[in-house]
Amino acid sequence: MIKDIKGLHHVTSMAADANDNNQFFTGTLGLRRVKKTVNFDAPEVYHLYYGDEVGTPGSVMTYFPFGRMPRGKRGVGEVGVTEFAVPKGSLAYWKDRLAKHDVQGLDEGTAFGEARLSFEGPDGDAFALVESEPQGRSPWTGADVPEEAGILGFHGARFALRDAAATGELLTYMGYQKAESEGALTRYIVEGGNAANTIDIEAVSGAPMANQGAGSVHHIAFAVEDRAAQLKVREALTETGYQVTPVIDRDYFWAIYFRTPGGILFEVATNEPGFDRDEDTAHLGEALKLPTRYEQNRAQIEKILPPLAF
Ligand code: ZN
Repeated sequence: MIKDIKGLHHVTSMAADANDNNQFFTGTLGLRRVKKTVNFDAPEVYHLYYGDEVGTPGSVMTYFPFGRMPRGKRGVGEVGVTEFAVPKGSLAYWKDRLAKHDVQGLDEGTAFGEARLSFEGPDGDAFALVESEPQGRSPWTGADVPEEAGILGFHGARFALRDAAATGELLTYMGYQKAESEGALTRYIVEGGNAANTIDIEAVSGAPMANQGAGSVHHIAFAVEDRAAQLKVREALTETGYQVTPVIDRDYFWAIYFRTPGGILFEVATNEPGFDRDEDTAHLGEALKLPTRYEQNRAQIEKILPPLAF
């Protein structure tokens, strides 16, 4: 069994309009944009990263805004809900704030005894705010969200799967422990990790497979401390029969990817070197950062990318 997974590292989704995306995550949700770069495999598309002050692993929501992209169709075989942790007692504030920002799909509920507020992102993305203990985390305070309500990072994610068992087994192999069940939901928790440590699997029968598009999660990344731990994880997954990519340099972390039995694309990403490797913490996310191999094309890339309003 793998013992090096520390919870979530980041979640990467697809969007249509870059400015709508930037406005929603920095303005409406009050996260900090911690990196403005490009999709390393398609440099004509931004890769925007939002999180806490420094983009701590477990807090980082990232987007590829493709411009005119049709919305994804929700279904099974995908990350159904991405969940952010907010301080206890803050959901009333959020309900009011999100309504004022004309956010769609507001719905209060509870799961596993935790109060939650579901809402949609600009492309119909499925999110929830879940009241949680801070567990040592603190929100970005540079936006107009009061500190006592600010997003602390991820709480976890909810997978919508036709076959819950196979992915449940994989999570267990990755070091998660099966916890309680509630209706169609089963919770998995990784002990000794960061605070973004829950995955809930929702067993959904009879629903069509998801069709990815704007508003869909592209992949979900789990955190390991460093490259040595990542190699151990890669070896363990490969031995079990998973087809895992070679280690890829993403400038701010090292990444490996593999497709899971339920259809979700998993990544395992290192906590090193982090988002402040090429920018001062005070100015994270302000300048367009390009991987070295695209620097020679900077003028052309800057012409293609839509300017962000801020
Ligand atoms: Zn990723």
